[in-house]
Amino acid sequence: MIEEGNLKLAFYSAAACGGCDVAILDINEGLLDLIEAADIEFWPTAMDVKIDDVKEMPDKYIDVTFFNGAIRIEEQEYMAKLLREKSKILIAYGSCSYIGGIPGLANLFNRMEIFRRAYIETASTSNPDGVVPKTQVDIPEGRLELPGFHDDVKTLAQVVEVDYYVPGCPPTAESTLSVVEAMLRGELPPRGSVLAPPKSVCDECPRNPKGEKKRISEIHRIHEVTPDSERCLLELGIPCMGPATRGGCGARCPKANMPCIGCGGPCPDAPEQGAAMLSALASIIERGVKMEDIERQIKDPIGTFYMFSLPSSIINRRVERK
Ligand code: SF4
Ligand code: SF4
Repeated sequence: MIEEGNLKLAFYSAAACGGCDVAILDINEGLLDLIEAADIEFWPTAMDVKIDDVKEMPDKYIDVTFFNGAIRIEEQEYMAKLLREKSKILIAYGSCSYIGGIPGLANLFNRMEIFRRAYIETASTSNPDGVVPKTQVDIPEGRLELPGFHDDVKTLAQVVEVDYYVPGCPPTAESTLSVVEAMLRGELPPRGSVLAPPKSVCDECPRNPKGEKKRISEIHRIHEVTPDSERCLLELGIPCMGPATRGGCGARCPKANMPCIGCGGPCPDAPEQGAAMLSALASIIERGVKMEDIERQIKDPIGTFYMFSLPSSIINRRVERK
């Protein structure tokens, strides 16, 4: 239970790009209500606070923590556990925290492959001794320690219990505002809820054809065509993740002539987002055209169907044969 008086809030970014922090600021004048009703106890992006400040808080001292970003390194896992201990409500805010997000595509590689690429092979890197990060390095002044780098990217819920999920990359100002308002009124839905409408992006899209979708015989990438601004992009052969993606964004990308890329995560009745999209695509292929011919035309199948949800999907990383 959240007690009377000012709410105590915390914000934290794990493996993130910073967009989710900015999304909090996007609620504009809603921030004034928030600041009036809440004290921000911990937000490393915006204030000078230390991990020790959190460690010293009594358990469940923070009312609500907004946790954005996926779990990539040991320190992020430690902070997830610490903030879980100190918070009454823990919200996975944004797609990285909710389903793994774009950092989750790193699950197509392992730790050493990532290090090799980032620290040795890139064209702009000169590293003749092949030095890669280590958790401990002894130097004359003493021992330097770095947090360990996991082999896998994980979602927040794969590390600690999560109370609510706010999808989006980043979440829209409207969805953030509705969470803040529900929180201030004490009207949050049952724990475990995804705080977004239970419908797909197609349900919110003005391009959604009234009747049956026209069948397709080939795939186009968005930069190869200038799509008719009123036609469904999928009907034009452009992979648009709308049928397999939870709405709440108002179909902003299709409205701007760009396909949905799936940041809202899966729809409630089809939790395996990539498989749901493959199934939607297969259902509109022209008779006589083989599915494998269509698949061959999709240049980056995992990046297309699992751009955001790889760590939370059934096969959540590249399978390695030992
Ligand atoms: S969900 Fe999107 S905006 Fe938020 S941290 Fe991840 S990549 Fe950035
Ligand atoms: S597939 Fe894309 S363009 Fe077509 S209705 Fe759904 S969201 Fe809109």
